[in-house]
Amino acid sequence: MAVLAAAQLLDELMGRHRNTNPNEKIKKPNWEDPEYCKYYMVKFCPHDLFVNTRADLGACPKVHDEEVKELFDKAESSYKKSQYVEEFLRFCKHMINDVERKIQKGKQRLELMNSKPEGPPMTQAQTEKNQEQVQLLSEKITSLVQEAEEAGIRGDVEQAQGLMKLCDRLKEEKEQLLKQQENSHWSMTAELAAAQEKQMEVCPVCGAFLIVGDAQQRIDDHLSGKQHVGYFKLRQAYEEMNESREKEQQEKERRRREDRERERSSRSGGGLGGLGSDRRDRERMERDRERDRERSDRDREREREKDKDRERHRMVREERPSRHDDRERERERDRDRERERDRERRHRKERRSPYERTSVRRRSRDRH
Ligand SMILES: [Zn+2]
Ligand SMILES: [Zn+2]
Repeated sequence: MAVLAAAQLLDELMGRHRNTNPNEKIKKPNWEDPEYCKYYMVKFCPHDLFVNTRADLGACPKVHDEEVKELFDKAESSYKKSQYVEEFLRFCKHMINDVERKIQKGKQRLELMNSKPEGPPMTQAQTEKNQEQVQLLSEKITSLVQEAEEAGIRGDVEQAQGLMKLCDRLKEEKEQLLKQQENSHWSMTAELAAAQEKQMEVCPVCGAFLIVGDAQQRIDDHLSGKQHVGYFKLRQAYEEMNESREKEQQEKERRRREDRERERSSRSGGGLGGLGSDRRDRERMERDRERDRERSDRDREREREKDKDRERHRMVREERPSRHDDRERERERDRDRERERDRERRHRKERRSPYERTSVRRRSRDRH
């Protein structure tokens, strides 16, 4: 709970070994130890981005350590290291997909409700109280998950299951509170828009409701707000890293092709056998092995993703109350897929500048 956050703060201020006896030998940290946060090592931890916003992820259960991050940076490239990057990218992508869904929902809401407020927005005091409760619940959930894990390790299945059930209840409570915040945000924006006789729009980065042609101060507040900045960072990091990863893969592929061609031409040239071709054969086998390794890693990766997708869809299905929603979800999924394909197509045609997001930002400023 709060103790965990306090311990993390002390770790950051005084180092992890703050309680170690000065005569004791300190074990050198290893970035591969499971207690360290992979996301933090790779770039940043998404848990830090949305603290006290509607998108709050709760406290990160893993350790953030600057020294370990440096060790990771300096470590030679390896399969394990690249897996950390993959995991970071996967988490970012998952969050981006979530916010994209939210953006779509927001747009539908705008179309359907014609910007009418839905009940009065919360007062400042109510909002603060709501946020406080959300934070308390997040902390409780994090510590319950930890307790449940410990119980599981001890083999106390009943205890672990009980704790997880409690955890689910708290998660539901938190969802409700966040929904209240979301509705209040909608009502407040709708009231403001109605008073100014202006339209509403959905922020293409973070999914918040905005007023078209709003006062500059409120636009700036939004653009520098935690939620918008958080999603902006997430998207930027994902695009940059994904692009450089793709470039790397293309480069590897190109080198392989060149090697193959060189080999073919030297074979057809004939007479160049002997020791040289032995060595080339060995090199080729080595490269093939490497390629196979990468390929099976990728396959495993894809399988895992598919499993997760299936799991997600199953959960969504269970939550859904009606057939109508089923069809809606189906359509949404189709649209998602279509968009994904579109994006990929575009991506292949024109290499996009990593600053595109900045231009989105600039565009929305220009309009006002
Ligand atoms: Zn973390
Ligand atoms: Zn935004």
